[in-house]
Amino acid sequence: MKKQYLLILFTMWSIINLNAQETFIAESIPESIKKQITGKSWVPNELIQLEDLRYLSISFLGFDNKLHVGHMIVNKDIAQEVLQIFKELFDQKFQIEKMQLIDNYFKEGLPLNEIDNLSVDDNNTYCFFFYRTVDPSKFISEHSTGMAIDINPRVNPWLSSYMCPKDAQNYLDREQKNIKGFINTESSCYTIFQKYGWVWGGDWRNVKDYHHFSKNGRCPQWFVDTSVEPEWIKAKVEIPDSLKKEIQNS
Ligand SMILES: [Zn+2]
Repeated sequence: MKKQYLLILFTMWSIINLNAQETFIAESIPESIKKQITGKSWVPNELIQLEDLRYLSISFLGFDNKLHVGHMIVNKDIAQEVLQIFKELFDQKFQIEKMQLIDNYFKEGLPLNEIDNLSVDDNNTYCFFFYRTVDPSKFISEHSTGMAIDINPRVNPWLSSYMCPKDAQNYLDREQKNIKGFINTESSCYTIFQKYGWVWGGDWRNVKDYHHFSKNGRCPQWFVDTSVEPEWIKAKVEIPDSLKKEIQNS
């Protein structure tokens, strides 16, 4: 009787695992995707070519606790490592709300930074977006070479002289618990990326980019305009003093 019970349990477990087929695949950018992204997240340039990029299919645990498969474009040099990182995130049951190409947020006539804002508002996780001009005097974002990934940006906002998203007040206390997809130094997301040598934007001193992980860890200094009064002061937003101090004093 006990054996039968165990057999039933084992069969159920096998079925669940069969249903939960995981997908972690890297491939050259398919022709259909080349068409989709050209003129949008990728434009002809001298810095990064389509051959330098890989199209990933990635299983992730959604906010609905269901298995989803998302897509991401990354630099070919880190494609396998990114797959391994997201496999570990999946194994650790780290939840991700959405994972789709930034191109899905493009709208006719919309400025490029507004496109990113739409993705942030949608809590979308993505990597590649060639959106900086190739000018030696200007900073090139790590996203432009597919070397940085933004994860659940709505609940892990950007914080400097302004907040992104604008209504990020509920997520400024970084000690909170039980928020889906939340990233702080306690989260498995932080631990896993750090294990592979990636740098978290939440560890930067003069700005906080809680959704941003980059392979090179470069902080976009040019973003920081210290002459602008921080948004949280203007809006009288309550954020922890320790966080204010850390950002302002750096
Ligand atoms: Zn980023």
